[in-house]
Amino acid sequence: MPDDNDYEALLGRAWEAMPKDEIKDHQRWSLPPPDIMYEGRNTVVKNFQEIVDSIRREPEHILGQILRELGSAGSRDGRRLILKSQVSKDKLDEKIEDYVNRYVICGECGKPDTHLIKEGRTQVVECMACGAKRPVKVKKGLKAQDKKGVVIIGDELEVMIQDVGKQGDGLAKRGKFVIYVPGVAKGQKCKIKVEKVSGNIVIGKVVTV
Ligand SMILES: [Zn+2]
Repeated sequence: MPDDNDYEALLGRAWEAMPKDEIKDHQRWSLPPPDIMYEGRNTVVKNFQEIVDSIRREPEHILGQILRELGSAGSRDGRRLILKSQVSKDKLDEKIEDYVNRYVICGECGKPDTHLIKEGRTQVVECMACGAKRPVKVKKGLKAQDKKGVVIIGDELEVMIQDVGKQGDGLAKRGKFVIYVPGVAKGQKCKIKVEKVSGNIVIGKVVTV
């Protein structure tokens, strides 16, 4: 039976013998969550540089995309980011994750070890870990919105009426949203068009039953 020292030595040798790629596989990459605070009307992201470093993209590119998505003005201040509006941590989290899914994560192996290249007029994410390439994801259609759990006016959604409220409106749920649909019955499946969104409340109109 080997004593503890032998065991340690054995582990050390096993570790050295392990292919580097395999070691890398076991280090799960994770995005640092935004560390925010509010200063008056501004939102300060204290660890913006840390997020940028972990994503390994140009800070100005990340900043530009995120500001556009948030519809907010803002600028970098040393390692911090100052947003000229009040933004919740969840919202910022969502926008950063969105950025990562579009511009960073490899479509084949799911790793962030990628860089952006241009092929003709297309921006392509090329993976340095597995060599796969994919075009930068373009936002369009319902599918992308579905994934993000975003509902916007004019969307057409398939819903199942789970209940009927006191006012007689059908109720459906979709992620964090409660959808009110007048003129439908419980158990009915229908396609609705979003007419109004207020917080988690969505008002929809039946398109087809
Ligand atoms: Zn890959």
